[in-house]
Amino acid sequence: MTVIDRTNQHLFQPPLYQVATAGLAAPAIAAPVRHVPARQKNATVLMAHVVGIDTGARTVQLDDGQHIPYVELIVATGATHSDFGHDEWQAHAPGLKTLEDAFDIRRRILVAFEQAEREPVDAARAAWLTFVVIGAGATGVEMAGMLAEIARRTLNGEFRRFDSRSARVILLEGGPRVLPAFPEDLSARARAQLERLGVIVWLDSRVTAIDRRGVEIGGTRIDARTVIRAAGVEAPPRSRWAAMPRATSCAGCAANRRGRSAIATTARWPRSAARPPSRSSARSSCRAIRRA
Ligand SMILES: Cc1cc2nc3c(=O)[nH]c(=O)nc-3n(C[C@H](O)[C@H](O)[C@H](O)COP(=O)(O)OP(=O)(O)OC[C@H]3O[C@@H](n4cnc5c(N)ncnc54)[C@H](O)[C@@H]3O)c2cc1C
Repeated sequence: MTVIDRTNQHLFQPPLYQVATAGLAAPAIAAPVRHVPARQKNATVLMAHVVGIDTGARTVQLDDGQHIPYVELIVATGATHSDFGHDEWQAHAPGLKTLEDAFDIRRRILVAFEQAEREPVDAARAAWLTFVVIGAGATGVEMAGMLAEIARRTLNGEFRRFDSRSARVILLEGGPRVLPAFPEDLSARARAQLERLGVIVWLDSRVTAIDRRGVEIGGTRIDARTVIRAAGVEAPPRSRWAAMPRATSCAGCAANRRGRSAIATTARWPRSAARPPSRSSARSSCRAIRRA
């Protein structure tokens, strides 16, 4: 058995926001991949980046041109960010999927407070002290809550030119409530808790532009030097891999625009999945899983 991963660590993603907000160190949520099958003598771990699959020749192609033969192949490459067609957003507003993303976000947050201390102009300082989180799913809610804690508690009293408690944390959600996948009463409670922490929640607020100085929601602009994206998930670009066209990303299962594959109400791959999943089929799958 050969396990191939482009990183050498097995990452537990749910607490990534704590690494991004300096609450946890990286080793608390990541361990070397090769530790996992260390005692399994027939298992080899290779740190390598897969760029293609030749299902005819039954080989996996690595970015250095090497080909690894296989008899059976399991592709489990996880999910990645969706830029909603805006490639330029990544540079100004990192997402949170990997340890590198978490380090990048942590650096941006800490640097923003340091820059605010050096900034003599009030408006410019306010932009350094404005943190925008896009997307009020679980990751966005956790990030916004932690940012508010940092500003109000962790850094309180450490700066001379401003009060860290004056920092604004703005959580933007395109839909009508936070935690849209949760029941409405939990959404309402989460929103109330966020607001108690000092987070400013904007609902029905779809971001239309992001640049290095802030974000735009339609005609409204927010000047913010730190923008974090917690919205948009899609399948990684397996569709670009040779011999794995987009529409057959999972053994014949249809995939939608974002590479997500339809599942049956029993959470199994349907045998004859020929069309992308509709919103209603995804919802009924979720209902069936909740009932089970
Ligand atoms: C911030 C955050 C919070 C989350 N919170 C929760 C939660 O509270 N509860 C929950 O149930 N789920 C949560 N999730 C989702 C959960 O972490 C994922 O569903 C889970 O990690 C998916 O596991 P996986 O093995 O499919 O993919 P991953 O854990 O993403 O593993 C995929 C692996 O493939 C490797 N890889 C990708 N492409 C290539 C390539 N081309 N070549 C070589 N290697 C490659 C990657 O390096 C990675 O190690 C969260 C996710 C995130 C990002």
